[in-house]
Amino acid sequence: MWRSWLAHLHGVQGGESSSLFTPTFFIYAYEEKTMALFWDTKIEFLKGVGPARAALLQKELNIFTFGDLLTYYPFRYVDKSHFVSVRDIRDSANYIVTKGFVVRQELLGSGRTQRLVITFSDGTGNIELVWFKGIKWIREWIKPNVEYIVMGKPNSFNGKYSIPHPDIEILRPEDNLIKQNFQPVYSTTEKLKAQGLTSKGISKLVQQLLSEAKGRIPEVLPTYVMVQNKLLTRQDALYAIHFPENNELLQRAIYRFKFEELFFIQLDYQYAKKERREKTSGFIFDKIGDNFNNFYHHHLPFQLTNAQKRVVREIRNDVKTGKQMNRLLQGDVGSGKTLVALLSMLIAKDNGFQACMMAPTEILANQHYIGISKFLNGLPIKVALLTGSTKAAEKRKIKAQLLEGEIDILVGTHALIEDDVKFSNLGFVVIDEQHRFGVEQRAKLWTKNNIPPHVLVMTATPIPRTLAMTFYGDLDCSVIDELPPGRKPIKTVHQYDSDRLKVFAFLEKQISLGRQVYVVYPLIKESEKLDLKDLMDGYESISRRFPLPKYQISILHGQMKPADKDYEMERFKKGTTHIMVSTTVIEVGVDVPNATVMVIENSERFGLAQLHQLRGRVGRGGEQSYCILMTADKLSYDGRERISTMVRTNDGFEISEADLKLRGPGDLQGLQQSGVVNLKVADIVKDESIIRLTRNVVADILSVDANFENLDNAPLKLYIKNKKTERNWSKIS
Ligand code: ADP
Ligand code: MG
Repeated sequence: MWRSWLAHLHGVQGGESSSLFTPTFFIYAYEEKTMALFWDTKIEFLKGVGPARAALLQKELNIFTFGDLLTYYPFRYVDKSHFVSVRDIRDSANYIVTKGFVVRQELLGSGRTQRLVITFSDGTGNIELVWFKGIKWIREWIKPNVEYIVMGKPNSFNGKYSIPHPDIEILRPEDNLIKQNFQPVYSTTEKLKAQGLTSKGISKLVQQLLSEAKGRIPEVLPTYVMVQNKLLTRQDALYAIHFPENNELLQRAIYRFKFEELFFIQLDYQYAKKERREKTSGFIFDKIGDNFNNFYHHHLPFQLTNAQKRVVREIRNDVKTGKQMNRLLQGDVGSGKTLVALLSMLIAKDNGFQACMMAPTEILANQHYIGISKFLNGLPIKVALLTGSTKAAEKRKIKAQLLEGEIDILVGTHALIEDDVKFSNLGFVVIDEQHRFGVEQRAKLWTKNNIPPHVLVMTATPIPRTLAMTFYGDLDCSVIDELPPGRKPIKTVHQYDSDRLKVFAFLEKQISLGRQVYVVYPLIKESEKLDLKDLMDGYESISRRFPLPKYQISILHGQMKPADKDYEMERFKKGTTHIMVSTTVIEVGVDVPNATVMVIENSERFGLAQLHQLRGRVGRGGEQSYCILMTADKLSYDGRERISTMVRTNDGFEISEADLKLRGPGDLQGLQQSGVVNLKVADIVKDESIIRLTRNVVADILSVDANFENLDNAPLKLYIKNKKTERNWSKIS
């Protein structure tokens, strides 16, 4: 077994020369590998699991290996040393543990509303336990004169408390001895429970596994890092996070795993950045030639803002160094990022290279194509558009021209990253609204040339500092913090649905002044049909209020054919239609300067980042623009906060910070889906100090021992090697 592993390691080693095969490192690595074998053992080989349960664990919880189970942490602990008296339960009670006896059980309602209500007493008072499902089983199981522990979140109704679907178990004598204060609670599913894998069942498996694990849990952090930062070892921390003896140990275990998680994120990014800086050569664009100069001096219809000038300078400095540029450009909606991208692409052209620009939607790609073509009108630069709906014949032609080097700038959607799209000499890649693209997709563009092209990713959704620090550690950052002159700040107001007539009257007035209006409806994937119905109902009521032939109304949603979308978009752009009723397909990038009003229906259903993007569709011309946030009369706390943030400020950075605080990082900018943010234990808002700490710890290590030659850093060396193997594999697949 280890022989093949050796060969494997050899393969990874490739042409690099380093001291990976020093004998000590080798022994270290061999031991680690043996431990890794334990960690990577298939879960079905654990006593008490077997093939059926293993299949379920995989399907329901993504637990494939021993390591997966060991890192399936409890989401809560029950402190059995603190039973709450029923009499002391208050409205604010979050989750309680109490003990007592069943007083009475009743079956209430019938059919779908049938429920089992058990009156439970601990001697200080009564509480109701309610089941809507699994009634039969509970009725058979529950007995009088048996003492139970009940856990759950109480609700209050008419001064009475009840717990729906509580966890309930028989109190055992040892539970009263306060030996194991903290009992882990694991989240599980109905299917798992049916196979005996309740929280308790999972806990048993973990216990079983931990008893076999001693001395076989690979440590991934260097010893000195653990000592300096007073961290538990991974082995101790695993015991403590599953079965903590006391709260202090539990907290230390959690801290250790947060540290570990953030440490390796930092290591990934900082190491990648270092490698890129040192090893990846980039094309040298050392000329500013005719195309740039001619455009800049004779075709640019306005002055660049100072911020735009600064960013163009930053890019120019990057691309002449011989290292690959990898730059994130943040700039609020309407700050003129596209133009910066265009100027950069002209520099590529001046140096004999092709450039491409990838946008997340067809509408946006079209618009970039039209905008860029207009800017470049009369200049000897060939621009082409490639999207999913480009006709086959046209596609063939574009691909041939690309290979011949006849196309200078290719604009498009995901279609650009298909394997058969080949450039003759791609030197510069622009990715617009990058948060819409996954890391993988970004990486794919790099492989379009042997030397990777320079990459500029642009986003209008500013990224809060902690997030940028954590997840964009490998990118350099530029910011456009200034809007082109003459823009009037958008006025934002909140209106309730009941004030719709007033809103319609306002729209009528704006249209009579020659302006255009967007009305946007939310689209949430799970209920696409319902949302579409909202949109259609809205369209009808607007059509009644703004009838033909005086008023023309466009409609746009995701389920329309691309050709129809283009047609409607074109009519709105030309000013043929007065109102654009749409779903969020118009969220990103659409540019119609004459549109001055953005009405957002059910705006409480949108996230802040999205509201800000939508608002950015207006205020693009010289006229005063408005954003009207419609909501139901009743709002949740979060909903109200979002709306008031929008009314208070136009500043994208302030909004993104508020967003992070309100929603947590999980949802932020769809980053979760794109695989950028994937934190298991750490919390990007609450753990800012650990983020800073790990960033510095990693930076220090890299500054002293950048290639992990020091034996102390052997775990890191192994980590990077394994990572490279993974990467090589993913390239092949
Ligand atoms: P975003 O940063 O949102 O992508 P765009 O690049 O679409 O912004 O620019 C918004 C609008 O502002 C466009 O119509 C663009 O032509 C215009 N614009 C860009 N830069 C300037 C400038 N320096 N002065 C005036 N208008 C500008
Ligand atoms: Mg844009």
